[in-house]
Amino acid sequence: MMEAGFATRAIRTGHWRTPEGEHGEPIFTTSSYVFSSAAEAAARFAGDQAGNIYSRFTNPTVRAFEERLASLEGGERCVATASGMAAILAVCMGLLKAGDRILSSRSLFGSTTMLFNKYLARFGIETTYVPLSDPDAWEAAIDSRTRLLFCETPSNPLTEMADLRQLAAIAHRHDCLLAVDNCFCTPALQRPLELGADLVIHSATKYLDGQGRCVGGAVVGDHKLVGEEVFGVLRTAGPTLSPFNAWVFLKGLETLELRMLAHARGAAQLADWLLAQPAVEHVYYPGLSGHPQHRLIGTQQRTGGGIVAFDMRGGQTGAWRLIDATRLLSITANLGDTKSTITHPATTTHGRLSPEERSAAGIGDGLVRVAVGLEDIADIQADLLPGLADLQP
Ligand SMILES: *Cc1c(COP(=O)(O)O)cnc(C)c1O
Repeated sequence: MMEAGFATRAIRTGHWRTPEGEHGEPIFTTSSYVFSSAAEAAARFAGDQAGNIYSRFTNPTVRAFEERLASLEGGERCVATASGMAAILAVCMGLLKAGDRILSSRSLFGSTTMLFNKYLARFGIETTYVPLSDPDAWEAAIDSRTRLLFCETPSNPLTEMADLRQLAAIAHRHDCLLAVDNCFCTPALQRPLELGADLVIHSATKYLDGQGRCVGGAVVGDHKLVGEEVFGVLRTAGPTLSPFNAWVFLKGLETLELRMLAHARGAAQLADWLLAQPAVEHVYYPGLSGHPQHRLIGTQQRTGGGIVAFDMRGGQTGAWRLIDATRLLSITANLGDTKSTITHPATTTHGRLSPEERSAAGIGDGLVRVAVGLEDIADIQADLLPGLADLQP
């Protein structure tokens, strides 16, 4: 299947048809597997014979999802996890030890910052933060203890982008690994491994599912890092993916490219339309020619993606009035769903930051984030219009 196109692999890879001749991928709901003899059981446990033992280690439905996602990201190996956070935890536990340092982009998913600062720090792993799009700052912050460079691109919610080729070169010059949380783009729009990254991390909860049904995650990379180190943590510590969720994600991957292109088309239209609204002060969207890293569109990232952020006039009052005037958009911090969502980052996802930290991160009180779903864009615009009209200067 490796030679086939992206859409074909997204639909066909990973399902090894059983003697039943099923067309759809089966869900293997079994916790353990039966051996034909005591000798076979011994050989499996000793690792002398390949095969399933227990579903905390391997499960055929989970493996189908792993093979499919590995193929789409262009990696040798994928390991699925119970959530996106479990994927990040497994990478850190598998590849780092006390005394090592993580160098990370400052703008990160909130729970990731919490994991690094509160929990990993307790085990002697320190994290240093640098501005995502400033490669000189990354290079200057590396020291002899730095082992892992970590980033999300584009960032949430301001859609700032890192140049992944540059970051990979910096990482490897200093004998470090580069891990990229590819949740916002998915392999349909961006493949970090092809740009030099060592590890790709996913919250499958978002676009891989695409319909807001299940929580899950994954790590993709080579046989050594992912197949041995990360897998070793998963099978021992246990935050593995359930076969039912794996099956939902398999179905999600089948339409991934279609959906991502449609999300991005809608987001681009919405960003253009917002630019023309007098109540909007600034629009953040990588597809806009005024975006500071717009040059990466087409060379790193296929389109601008599905997330648009914008500053409303009137600060928090303006932003809340806009959000509360919507009837169609869902007021929720989730993203990657067919349903469009609207969020006020300063009082939700970034509410735990101090006002100084928020303003350093560029998260203004008037900032609104829309994760554009797959509804008709005219209906999304019509839903935003009352709140925007209310604030004409
Ligand atoms: C949601 C999210 C995560 C965490 O994933 P869960 O599946 O919720 O554990 C990590 N990174 C990014 C960018 C996310 O949006």
